[in-house]
This record gives sequence, C-alpha cells and structure tokens, in this order.
Amino acid sequence: MPVNRHAYEKLIKDLLPFGAGLVAVSKKKTVAEIRELYESGQRDFGENYVQELLAKQKELPADIRWHFIGHLQSNKVKSIVPFVHLIHSIDSISLLTEINKQAEKNNRVVDCLLQIYIATEETKFGLSTEEAEDFLLGSDLPRLKNILLKGVMGMASLTENEALVRSEFRRLKEFFKKTAERKLPGTNFQYLSMGMTNDYLVALQEGSNLVRIGSAIFGER
Ligand SMILES: *Cc1c(COP(=O)(O)O)cnc(C)c1O
Repeated sequence: MPVNRHAYEKLIKDLLPFGAGLVAVSKKKTVAEIRELYESGQRDFGENYVQELLAKQKELPADIRWHFIGHLQSNKVKSIVPFVHLIHSIDSISLLTEINKQAEKNNRVVDCLLQIYIATEETKFGLSTEEAEDFLLGSDLPRLKNILLKGVMGMASLTENEALVRSEFRRLKEFFKKTAERKLPGTNFQYLSMGMTNDYLVALQEGSNLVRIGSAIFGER
C-alpha cells in the first residue's frame, strides 16, 4: 500500500503548534514503504519486533533514528543496542539492567523511556507509577551508567470513551512533570511519548511531545 502523503502532511501540520515529534510506526510495513516516507523527510521510525527491525535497518539509510516501541525480551537486547536511538518500552527493571550491560560493551549510552501502565485494560505491558517511582528513587539507577532515562511512554485504553483516554494521559503527564522537576541522577526527562492514530489529538492536548503513529500514515496493517 502506498504511503498516504496527504495524511502525513496533515499530521505534520497538526503537530506543529504543539512542538511535538513524530515517530512513524512502520511495523509490518515494507522497506519500500519506509523509504517512501523517508524521501518525504521523515527520519524517526518505530518498530515493535526485533527481527523485523534488524532486517529493515540493514536495508535502509543510516541516518534513520530507530525507536523501539514493542515489548523487548532480554535475550534480544544485544542485537539492537549498537544502533537503537530510543527504547520507549522499558517495562521491567531487569530489562534496563541488561540494556546497560550491552550498552557498556558497545561503549555507548542508550536513551530509554519507562513504559508506564495507564490503561484500565489488563493486557498492556508496563510499570505502575509506584514501581517506577521506587526505582527512580532507589540506589540502582545511578549505578547504570550506560543508560539514560529520558522520560515516559504510555498507551491509553482502546476505547471510544474520550474522557477516559484524556484522564489516563493526564495522569501520565502529571507523573512526567513531577519526575522531570526532581532531576534525579540517571534521568534527563524530556520526552512524554503518548498518542497513536486514534488518540493523538487528545494526547497532544494533554501535553504529549512525542507521538507514535502508524496506520494514519501507512494505512491499516
Ligand atoms: C502499533 C503501535 C503504535 C501505532 O499504532 P497506530 O494505531 O497504527 O498509530 C504506537 N505505539 C505502539 C506501542 C504500538 O505498538
């Protein structure tokens, strides 16, 4: 399916007044489709599956910033750490420990976001705000010299209930703001990653500065 350039351009316009960045979510889309969007100027792409990301990264221009947004298994960390730009989906502390270890071997600092569980649904991965807080204030984080926590990511409930979605985003924004103000060691909070095709306008209104959008640009998967 060709990229919907019209939708892409509209999206860029929508984001402008909010000063928000766009991660174009290219999971299950082909190298040709990604290249087409790249040629329109898009540089940030998001992928959910490690094998798929590795295959695409090899084929595509080196100046693409690859965001990892899916559930990441510890045994797969090693293969993406050499090049990944930002991992949005830190859903356990042990994962962060593994990323730190691999990042050290690669002599780099990997930027990460804590994925916070905000939806009322049971199926979503993520940390509770309490778990995140315990970790942020604990003694382990300052020791992880090869990761930097740059903010948080969250997914709202999949529902038509806009008020519910809004309240979930608002909660995440509050957590983000409070944590950013603390300026804790091992953190440099800048990114509030929230908003997808169906809820990005609400997310922007609630303070998102990084949206992750797939189907609005690339069509249904
Ligand atoms: C697939 C996915 C998206 C994009 O979803 P769309 O509805 O296609 O915009 C965003 N974030 C995450 C974590 C995803 O898995």
